[in-house]
Amino acid sequence: MPKVVTRFAPSPTGFLHIGGARTALYNWLFARRHGGSFLLRIEDTDRARSTDAAIDAIISGMKWLGLDWDGDAVSQFDQAARLRSVTEELLAKGAAYKCYATSEETAALRAQARENGAVFLGDMWRDREPDADTASQPYSIRIKMPREGKTTIDDQVQGAVTVQNGTLDDMIILRSDGTPTYMLAVVVDDYDMGVTHVIRGDDHLNNAFRQAQIYNAMNWDIPIYAHIPLIHGADGKKLSKRHGALGVDAYAEMGFLPAAMRNYLLRLGWSHGDDEIITTEQAIEWFGLENVGRGPARFDFDKLDSLNAHYLRQMNPANILPLIENELENTIETKLSDTERNRILRALPSIVERAKRLPDIVEAARLYCSATSMPVTEKAAGMLIGKGSMIQAVAIELEAVTTWSSEVIKAAIMSFAQARDLKMGEVMQPTRAAITRGAPSGDLVDLLEILGQKEALSRLGDQADA
Ligand code: GLU
Repeated sequence: MPKVVTRFAPSPTGFLHIGGARTALYNWLFARRHGGSFLLRIEDTDRARSTDAAIDAIISGMKWLGLDWDGDAVSQFDQAARLRSVTEELLAKGAAYKCYATSEETAALRAQARENGAVFLGDMWRDREPDADTASQPYSIRIKMPREGKTTIDDQVQGAVTVQNGTLDDMIILRSDGTPTYMLAVVVDDYDMGVTHVIRGDDHLNNAFRQAQIYNAMNWDIPIYAHIPLIHGADGKKLSKRHGALGVDAYAEMGFLPAAMRNYLLRLGWSHGDDEIITTEQAIEWFGLENVGRGPARFDFDKLDSLNAHYLRQMNPANILPLIENELENTIETKLSDTERNRILRALPSIVERAKRLPDIVEAARLYCSATSMPVTEKAAGMLIGKGSMIQAVAIELEAVTTWSSEVIKAAIMSFAQARDLKMGEVMQPTRAAITRGAPSGDLVDLLEILGQKEALSRLGDQADA
């Protein structure tokens, strides 16, 4: 195989949505798998719809996902002069022609064809010479499609797909204002960039047959195509915002990890036996177009959550802390102290056991910060009513503990309960309410140990007059 070159070619008209991110991932993996190059081309020929904000969102989404591209990102618009010269070449070869139809005429003929159930071929000027008057009018340039025979694309995902050439319209390649269309630009850019494999959504399959004619007219090799089925919602319907058709930035904000997202997107349309957890290293080793499914994939938040939970549990606490720090500091409205940081680092292995997304961790970590601004929930307040003297007594018992370890703390609480003929639960429940103020928590004794004696006594002291 010659050196593999793939590309991701988003139109910067919105965020980097989940389908685009998966296309980018597959192209990236395919290039990395074969030691090839992965290029990024921003398809910004549609000036009215392209925005800088969308370009930034695409670039930052790619970076967040960890999909690095080779060389600089290329702007399609910058190639306009080259595209005009290719158009000249096609005209000179007789493979393209000038069309003088106005947009009103074209729209009327298109509507008429639709009414008759016919294909609009756009060939009004295919075999016609303009008179002197018309020749001075604006014109667009259309490609002269073959009318006989058929075109077959040996798609790496869809298999061999054939269309009759007679159904292909003489599409516009250069508009009357001199701007090239996407159909021309994509072909010339892919050729110029040496793209060997075009991996993209199957909404572009019909375009491939039309683009193939430009390659043929220019005598260029047609790249290998792989058209991936689109992503649907869990209910099988077309993906909408409600289903998760959001920008990659929204997933970052929801607290998903890039590694989990990569794993999820990878499995959304590609499989390796029954493997669900596939690291990026394994994906680079295994990824191939032969295992891309032919049916539409279904987006499923629960699966994404469970993968995210898995990747969180794999992480070193020291690497998790920076991911939650800002949000946590916003919640507690102050900077984290070193003591709080250390408590959180110790607690993280048990926190991640119960977390799916980063905000779950922020919430749980809140418990390990100073309690000053921590509100008491209604439920906890209820459990504390009339328990002030018991809380005070527990505090006195714990104040006497000289070695602050979970074993000693547990023994102290047990002996406290025994001495008063109370069940453990009767002591633990209000103690927990005083310490956590109603926030969900794991094992109370472990929490007390990590909080340290001073913070534990201070929290109990706060509730001693409940
Ligand atoms: N710019 C096109 C899009 O965003 C992709 C074109 C292609 O991959 O060939 O849908």
